[in-house]
Amino acid sequence: MTTTVPALVAATPGASFERSTIERRDVGPNDVQIDIAYAGICHSDIHQAREEWGAGIFPMVPGHEIAGIVSAVGSDVTKHKVGDRVGIGCFVDSCRECENCLAGEEQFCLKGNVATYNGREYSGEETYGGYSTSIVANENYVLSIPEGIDLDVAAPLLCAGITTYSPLKHWGAGPGKKVAIVGMGGLGHMGVKIAAALGAEVTVLSQTLSKKEDGLRLGATDYFATSDDETFKTNSKRFDLIINTVSADLPIDKYLSMLTLDGSMVFVGLPEKPQTFRVFSLTGGRRSLAGSNIGGIRETQEMLDFCAEHGLGADIEVIGADQVDEAYERVVKSDVRYRFVIDTATIPENAA
Ligand SMILES: [Zn+2]
Ligand SMILES: [Zn+2]
Repeated sequence: MTTTVPALVAATPGASFERSTIERRDVGPNDVQIDIAYAGICHSDIHQAREEWGAGIFPMVPGHEIAGIVSAVGSDVTKHKVGDRVGIGCFVDSCRECENCLAGEEQFCLKGNVATYNGREYSGEETYGGYSTSIVANENYVLSIPEGIDLDVAAPLLCAGITTYSPLKHWGAGPGKKVAIVGMGGLGHMGVKIAAALGAEVTVLSQTLSKKEDGLRLGATDYFATSDDETFKTNSKRFDLIINTVSADLPIDKYLSMLTLDGSMVFVGLPEKPQTFRVFSLTGGRRSLAGSNIGGIRETQEMLDFCAEHGLGADIEVIGADQVDEAYERVVKSDVRYRFVIDTATIPENAA
C-alpha cells in the first residue's frame, strides 16, 4: 500500500516544476515517516533535473537536504519518535553488510547506496526527494537535528554541511592548520564556517572579491581573488589543505603550488570535464590530490551535533514552491547567499 502526497515534480529533463502528487510507501516496522518542513536546493538537484550527469529517472522529485518532524514510526523503531526533529541527506539506504557500510562509510557502499531521489530502492521502486510534504525512510538513515539549530538553516547541512565537514575532519583541519576554501557558494560558505569552528586559519579563494565581506564575517581571516595571478604567488606553499568546492575547470598546478609540504588539495566540487595537472606539482612537495563525497550516517550526525554546539547553520533564502524554477536560474548564476530552502508548506495544490 502507498500514500499519496503533494510534491513538486519535473515531468521530463529540464521541465518546469509542477505541483503534483507522488506515492510514498506505507510505514514499515523499521520506517520513520517525516512531515517535511524544509528542503534545500543543491546544485546537484539542477544537474540531475536537467540530466546533465546522464540519464535520470522521470518524473523526478529532487531534494536531498531534508528537515522536518517525525509524524509516524514503525513498530520496531527505536532511534526516533513522533515529534522528533529529524533530517535526511543524500541517501536513504545502503546494503548494511559490505566493509564500507560496516565501517560507517555508507556513502561508499560497495553495492551502491540508494540515492534519496533519482535512484531506486533495492526493491526497484523509484525514490523521490524532499520537494514534497512527506517522506518515509528506514530509521537508520534518518538523522537527529539537535535543538539549537532551526530546521530551515539545518536542511542544507544534510548535503552542503557534511560534504565540507567530512574532508575537513579527514584531512585534519584544526588549530595550527591553514585551510583554503575554493569557492564561496552553498558548499564554500559552509566550509568556511566549519573550518573556522574547528579552529583552523581559513582563507577563501574566490573568483572575485564580491563576497569578501561575507567570507570574513563567516570566519575567514583572508580572502583572495583567483582572477588575480598575484594570489598564487602571495600564497605560495602556504596551505595544509585546499578544499575545492567549485565545479568549474581549474588550473590545478597553480592551486597545488599553494600547498605546503605534505599538503592536500581535495575536490568536492565535480567538474564535468576531465581535469589535468603536472605530476611535478605533486612530487615537488610530497603533495596529494584527492576527492571526497558527502559522509556516512555516523559522521553526518557528528556534524549536526558539532554545528548545534557551535551555533552553525546555513545562510539561507527561504522560497515558496512557485519560485523554484527561478531559484534554479539564480543558483546557476551563483546569485544566492548561500542556499535556497523551499518552505514545503507551499507545495500542496491548495497552497497556491
Ligand atoms: Zn547536494
Ligand atoms: Zn554497503
